[in-house]
Amino acid sequence: MAQTVKGVVAMKKGAPVELVDVVVPDPGPGEAVVDIQACGVCHTDLHYREGGINDDFPFLLGHEAAGVVSAVGEGVTNVAVGDYVILNWRAVCGQCRACLKGQPWYCFNTHNASQKMTLTDGTELSPALGIGAFIEKTLVHSGQCTKVDPSLRRRLPACSGAV
Ligand SMILES: [Zn+2]
Ligand SMILES: [Zn+2]
Repeated sequence: MAQTVKGVVAMKKGAPVELVDVVVPDPGPGEAVVDIQACGVCHTDLHYREGGINDDFPFLLGHEAAGVVSAVGEGVTNVAVGDYVILNWRAVCGQCRACLKGQPWYCFNTHNASQKMTLTDGTELSPALGIGAFIEKTLVHSGQCTKVDPSLRRRLPACSGAV
């Protein structure tokens, strides 16, 4: 069943962003739902809000995120429920002509979810850089998920306060 969660959306050019209800569909084939635990705030999100990227408002902002997979669709094998993952905004396919030539930056078939997250009135959202992570949970293509060992967080050196 689709879930309704809170997300930060830029409804129109230059307007303050809003915290609104967003409908996240169940993952379809090849897709995954990720419960977001952390998301960076980037200048690119501001560019979206100011209409500097394109005009496909409303935008679901946020694209530098990590979280835990909470559901996967049919055929997903690279991640499973409970996996800690980071999300990739340009997930290359690894199989097209460019990828096979060792030039993934020209990939013809980068992965993004095929279903759309929407507002409660059905308006389709444009997720920033194909992710949209200023939200409790987001829908992505499973190829956008990179599994990370969650214990790595504990191995980071503690901040010494000498900033
Ligand atoms: Zn960024
Ligand atoms: Zn490719």
